[in-house]
Amino acid sequence: MALVSGANRGLGFEISRQLAAEGVTVLMGARRPLAGEKAARQLRREGGTVISVPLDVTSTESVRELAARIEGEYGRLDILINNAGAYFDVDNQASSVDLGLVRQALETNLLGAWQLSEAMLPLMQRHGYGRIVNVSSGCGAIDSDGTSCPAYRVSKAALNSHTRMLAAELAGSGILVNAVCPGWVATDMGGHGGRPVAEGASGIVWAAMLPSRPALNGLFFRDKQRIDW
Ligand code: NDP
Repeated sequence: MALVSGANRGLGFEISRQLAAEGVTVLMGARRPLAGEKAARQLRREGGTVISVPLDVTSTESVRELAARIEGEYGRLDILINNAGAYFDVDNQASSVDLGLVRQALETNLLGAWQLSEAMLPLMQRHGYGRIVNVSSGCGAIDSDGTSCPAYRVSKAALNSHTRMLAAELAGSGILVNAVCPGWVATDMGGHGGRPVAEGASGIVWAAMLPSRPALNGLFFRDKQRIDW
């Protein structure tokens, strides 16, 4: 049983499709229920076992309601993909960016993933198995050279830091926590020049299905290869 946030389009939709093709039951989180249901219908037509669930990662109430629903209906969760993301503020510079935008980026890209992980962890801990994948970006690597998209960049660097902390805390629990950069992908966020979405999603799905090896915890991957933070 997997939960994917931001599953109604882009990478989240493709991740759901690939997980479903592996035989995983997928809860497709979407903050716009109609868009979520439309996306889920498409994957069901392709033969996947998928269910659209309402999820706004910035809303504590929405996150808690979903955790209670999963507990009541399924009693467990095996895979959480923190994919929902926003605020790729490409035209800004750190010296002049509106800090309101930075707060919004942190709300979605960092705190959204953080509170969703916190809410879902008990559903993994009770059976001693879990895979949490934080969909990050190479531009969040602390030594990446660029200065564009400062709000987004800082939010992904913080997400990377959170990934490491959570992984260290959960070491030995059967739950692996990793971050994955999908590369530059052709989605609404990535624009048209990027690689096909299926390629970007495959490294994320790989991290969601990692074998139980303690060494594969708290790492940052792109295309199934370890990369620097
Ligand atoms: P898209 O903009 O295509 O899709 C973003 C998804 O996130 C949408 O489903 C959107 O929902 C959802 N979302 C945004 N805010 C929230 C929220 N508060 N609650 C729930 N869902 C929300 O982006 P991509 O598919 O390209 O990106 C997916 C992830 O991959 C992001 O974390 C992004 O940072 C990361 N990434 C993408 C890269 C790329 O080149 N595309 C490169 C590196 C990383 P809605 O439809 O309602 O807006």
